[in-house]
Amino acid sequence: MAVERTLSILKPDATRRNLTGAINAKLEEAGLRIVAQKRLHLTRGQAEAFYAVHRERGFFADLVAFMISGPVVVQVLEGENAVARNREVMGATNPANAAEGTIRRAFAESIEANSVHGSDSAENATQEVAFFFAGIEVVG
Ligand code: ADP
Ligand code: MG
Repeated sequence: MAVERTLSILKPDATRRNLTGAINAKLEEAGLRIVAQKRLHLTRGQAEAFYAVHRERGFFADLVAFMISGPVVVQVLEGENAVARNREVMGATNPANAAEGTIRRAFAESIEANSVHGSDSAENATQEVAFFFAGIEVVG
């Protein structure tokens, strides 16, 4: 499997509880390199655009409100099979179903406030990285 990049977000529940470093340690222990990172407070428009794929879902309005409730840390992760590797270390969307040792099992508060976002395919990763980062900001 080739070296890939994927987009990661440390969500407002994680920044609020000062878990940026603890989560980054788990990502790095999983073999992922943080090749770009910045802290942002998303606007409603930015959050709605980022999660546009979910706009018909019942939880969309709540999800947007949550994602703008505090700062986030957006990151590009690089490594072998990075998209799948990150999804593995994140754990299931609902922390009640997340495996032992995963970020969501360790830190998530709920199915909504689940600490991290990770791209779900190589194609979406490319789009999501470009949503937040200029090429010059990603340093492999
Ligand atoms: P994932 O983040 O694991 O890829 P989804 O893409 O399905 O999950 O959903 C995006 C985000 O929307 C989730 O991470 C979570 O914050 C929120 N979410 C998903 N399902 C629900 C739900 N049933 N109720 C509330 N929030 C949800
Ligand atoms: Mg998703």
